[in-house]
Amino acid sequence: MFAERLSRARVVMADQDVDAMVLSVGADLPYFCGYEAMPLERLTLLVVPRDSDASLIVPFLEAPRVVERPGVFDIVSWKDGENAITLAARLIGDVDKVAVGDQTWAGFLVDLSTELPGTQFIRASEVTTPIRSIKDTAEVEALRAAGSAVDRIAAQIQAGQIPLVGRTEAEVSAHIGHRIIEEGHQKVNFAIVASGPNAASPHHEPGDRMIRPGEAVLFDFGGTMADAHGVGYCSDITRCVHIGEPSPGFAALYEVLVASHAAGLSAATVGTACEVVDAVTRSVIDDAGYGEFFIHRTGHGIGVEAHEHPNIVVGNDLPLVPGHAFSIEPGIYVPGEWGARLEDIVVAAVAGPDAMNLADHGLALVDG
Ligand code: ZN
Ligand code: ZN
Ligand code: ZN
Repeated sequence: MFAERLSRARVVMADQDVDAMVLSVGADLPYFCGYEAMPLERLTLLVVPRDSDASLIVPFLEAPRVVERPGVFDIVSWKDGENAITLAARLIGDVDKVAVGDQTWAGFLVDLSTELPGTQFIRASEVTTPIRSIKDTAEVEALRAAGSAVDRIAAQIQAGQIPLVGRTEAEVSAHIGHRIIEEGHQKVNFAIVASGPNAASPHHEPGDRMIRPGEAVLFDFGGTMADAHGVGYCSDITRCVHIGEPSPGFAALYEVLVASHAAGLSAATVGTACEVVDAVTRSVIDDAGYGEFFIHRTGHGIGVEAHEHPNIVVGNDLPLVPGHAFSIEPGIYVPGEWGARLEDIVVAAVAGPDAMNLADHGLALVDG
């Protein structure tokens, strides 16, 4: 599978006249070779020449972490005291154009460009995005497994099985993080718990605010779950609950949100431009008079990264193709008062939009 992914990368490299691609910290590396670099100061670098075999440069003391994959890459380890950049430059060669992983430490790129003064560097995402953004069947199943896992946690929250009243947001967030791991993820990416007026801040940091009866609580959480090859795929879901009866105002706002989300989901068909899906969710919220309070794009792509391409945003005229995986997550945020968001991961498919999250979309009323 990794060899096949690398050969697809080489096809795109040939198209774009890229002589070599180098990948370090970030999600491209595990996607193309099954290894994740430690985000430290020692250089880890997969060097993929367009016309010869790939090498994984890895610090000697981290070499035992590497699963050997003959036919995918050779391992080239370096010891403290050796110059890893010189080694990398030698493996890359004196070439014209190199695609470098977008999340590679800037320091390494600066040193590499000093070592290779005649080389032009471009972002590796120009090579990797067209490949990574279209998921194959196994990847869709990995996203579905991660989606089902967070669905089970959402259902627990909606059933009132995770205590809220009298606990702080941070405590509930830690509880959800624990459940994310219990449900089979290896990593917690985030567990936003935003109570009452805090939900008006879309990326609220859960803090020491005590959750009280009579208010809404927004939960947005996800993690990374390994597939059969040890490559992690992300989950991401948002649901809201209300502790006791909601005010008519909040209930009305939430109904608009449900309608907006449903409209976006059914619009996400193959051939529809990403920006059209965004316009569809937005128009429902605009028509209800809340337009100014929907302050972000409708969604983001998802896969080995929690946020990747394609974005469901104005200006992105890319038509959806089978295998595009992304969130539909309209939100309405009234500063100082309340906020709500509803989010599912969806995959575009010939048979119609395929939702990875099936947890109930309604505003669950809980006792606390
Ligand atoms: Zn977000
Ligand atoms: Zn989310
Ligand atoms: Zn999201």
